[in-house]
Amino acid sequence: MTAKLIDGVALSQQVRAEVALRAAALTAKGVKPGLAVVLVGDNQASQVYVRNKVKACADAGLHSVLEKYDASMSEADLLARVEALNNDPSIHGILVQLPLPKHIDDHKVIEAISPEKDVDGFHVASAGALMVGEQGFKACTPYGCMKMLESIGMKDLRGKHAVVIGRSNIVGKPMAMMLLQANATVTVCHSGTPDLAFHTKQADIVVAAVGKRNVLTAEMVKPGAVVIDVGMNRNDEGKLCGDVDFDGVKQVAGWITPVPGGVGPMTITMLLVNTMESAERFAAEAP
Ligand code: NAP
Repeated sequence: MTAKLIDGVALSQQVRAEVALRAAALTAKGVKPGLAVVLVGDNQASQVYVRNKVKACADAGLHSVLEKYDASMSEADLLARVEALNNDPSIHGILVQLPLPKHIDDHKVIEAISPEKDVDGFHVASAGALMVGEQGFKACTPYGCMKMLESIGMKDLRGKHAVVIGRSNIVGKPMAMMLLQANATVTVCHSGTPDLAFHTKQADIVVAAVGKRNVLTAEMVKPGAVVIDVGMNRNDEGKLCGDVDFDGVKQVAGWITPVPGGVGPMTITMLLVNTMESAERFAAEAP
């Protein structure tokens, strides 16, 4: 069997086109959706990420502001900037690019973002809202994975067993919660899970979010399963690759996401969706 590809680039284009229509409609009513991206320091990867986010905003007709600061910026100054953005009516979403320089407490900064503008979905209030099924922003990467499942007709996951490998606050845990909300039976594995293959072999859906190559190989996958690869690693030739042994697993799985061109583009797309939702809520509440 050769798995069908879940094409994150094509799906992104489709979702971004929908966002562009919504953005144009809201702008015509006098509210242009706005995202502020804050970058502190000169981390190379972060520079590429923020550039891509700003470009994606422009392409979809959203207003965006990129604030770049020197690595020596103090925590107090950064917190003051976040507060100013919280109070800026032209900004509906605030994203502080992580990692921050070591002298700044990431957690403190994320918690300073107003939950109404937390379009990354990292604030404790957003995580809590997801946990109890209330309205809040969903973390973009797992949200993108859910969109990918939906795109292949897997919206209600009743009767499906999903295995998530990884339990980080930004991917694994929110992923598990979203799958649970979609009625899947969910198993979460991590570095302390003794026999990973025992779990993955039973899964109808496997989401790998580890950050290590070849965590999931063909013999660990149930024939026909859906495999979503969140991982971003470099192979021996320096090329981007995921956590999944793509060439092996695609012989067994029913559906698979590629790296690159899978979850990555969907993450930025869901950031646009969240910013759009925030702007629409703002417009609805405006006097
Ligand atoms: P993280 O915070 O380092 O978490 C990794 C998780 O994997 C941890 O829960 C860890 O377990 C678990 N783990 C480590 N080794 C394992 C093993 N051998 N077997 C099972 N579980 C294992 O990473 P993250 O932020 O969640 O990111 C995960 C990957 O996704 C990275 O490659 C990252 O670059 C990528 N990523 C991609 C996107 C995208 O847009 N495509 C977005 C975000 C992240 P413990 O908790 O026990 O340590």
